[in-house]
Amino acid sequence: MTSGFHIENFGCRAARADGEALSALLRSGGLQGREAPEAEVVIVNTCSVTAEADREARAYIRRTHRLNPDARILVTGCYAQRAPQEIAALEGVSAVVGNSHKALAPQIAMRLAAGEADTAATIVPISALTSSGAAIWADDAFAHSFLEEAQVLPGAQTRPNLKIQEGCSNRCTFCVIPQTRGNSRSLSSESILRQVRNFVEAGGNELVFSGINLGRWGRDWPRDLDTKPTLAILIRTILTETKLPRLRLSSIEPMDWDADLIALFRDFPPSRLARHAHLPLQSGSDAVLRRMHRRYRPWHYVEKAAALSAACGDTLTLGADVMAGFPGETDAEFTETYELIRALPFGYLHLFPFSPRPGTRAWELHRQWPVPPRVVTERMTALRTLAREKTRTHRQSMIGRTLDAITLNTPDSLAGDGCTAALTQNFLPVQTRNADGSITAPNSLVSVRITALADDLTLAATLVSQHPVVDRVFPRPHAHS
Ligand code: SF4
Repeated sequence: MTSGFHIENFGCRAARADGEALSALLRSGGLQGREAPEAEVVIVNTCSVTAEADREARAYIRRTHRLNPDARILVTGCYAQRAPQEIAALEGVSAVVGNSHKALAPQIAMRLAAGEADTAATIVPISALTSSGAAIWADDAFAHSFLEEAQVLPGAQTRPNLKIQEGCSNRCTFCVIPQTRGNSRSLSSESILRQVRNFVEAGGNELVFSGINLGRWGRDWPRDLDTKPTLAILIRTILTETKLPRLRLSSIEPMDWDADLIALFRDFPPSRLARHAHLPLQSGSDAVLRRMHRRYRPWHYVEKAAALSAACGDTLTLGADVMAGFPGETDAEFTETYELIRALPFGYLHLFPFSPRPGTRAWELHRQWPVPPRVVTERMTALRTLAREKTRTHRQSMIGRTLDAITLNTPDSLAGDGCTAALTQNFLPVQTRNADGSITAPNSLVSVRITALADDLTLAATLVSQHPVVDRVFPRPHAHS
């Protein structure tokens, strides 16, 4: 019987892209995707951005081992990179593969799934077997951490992620990512173009470019005056030379939104380049941003948001990450953050309480100037209320508009109500109704008219039209870089 695998992904979009690539490679290697209790190998793709993320991963590993004691558990991702020995000591773990060795994860998983007695004998680990019997593949070289040979295809994920950049060379004081993923490095333009063309050929309609620090794509290569690879040039090439129907950009640091990148929104229609910009904010206080070693100031952020709004028009959905309770954050500094958010037209916010991570500068700052947990909780509550109001205002302003969208996998409960799940080009989840009561298949490009906003902030819509696959708009030639 064919062996089965299950991948449980934790963390950010870039981590999910790793999980999707790993899954594609295992399927092409002949393994079947299964639920964790029936799988021979369970891969836990971890995050380590907060202490809570570590706890969730450990709890999942324990639960999986309890429900499926015969499963071989392979743990990979950021937590596996940051603390491999800690994970190897957990009962039921067979292999720990850090981000530095992620390219080996498919082979290791295949051997574990085949029940090979000693995987470590055939793929030599970095650490000898631990006392628990788990082998560890992890070091700090990060030589082979792309999984680019795995082609992204439309399938279980209607809108897959293509991770085109890995690691980060910044040193924000609260962040473990440089430790867990290494310095910034970029997937080649050739690999990206090949991936995009194959994705389109396979019927894909929306692709999400993701990365750990996506705006730094291409900056790690030696430059000469004739060839300066930038993300803006790459995107212009993709949208001009391929038939990709729609591209969405995931998080890009504020200072990486340069004039060329913003100009793309003027040159390509929303049907092809989603009007969705996620700029991590973290704090609206100059002093806190300095303590965080962030590279922008609040006024830079405001300028970038204004430039994006001007280029995208009023359907832009602006999103941000915001952290509450960074060490030493005073009431006045928190108020600056609150007021800055209040002044900007955010469509959604991802909110996090500060979590001290071992090995970071902020770990030390936290020992000296911790913000009391009660205060952090109060600030998170205030931000959640504000974020909800922002989302409500933004979504309310979309009522009556007709927007391009892509249909998703509709859950049975929604289909039972005669609605199709869809995501608009500007990142609004909608429940859309067809005049004849039918459900539209996933991965269809449609236009929807937004009709109502419910109390739980769900947007209702009606189907206006379904786009023929050949209806792909091409832009005028570029005039910016
Ligand atoms: S930019 Fe800062 S927060 Fe983002 S990954 Fe790099 S170091 Fe971490």
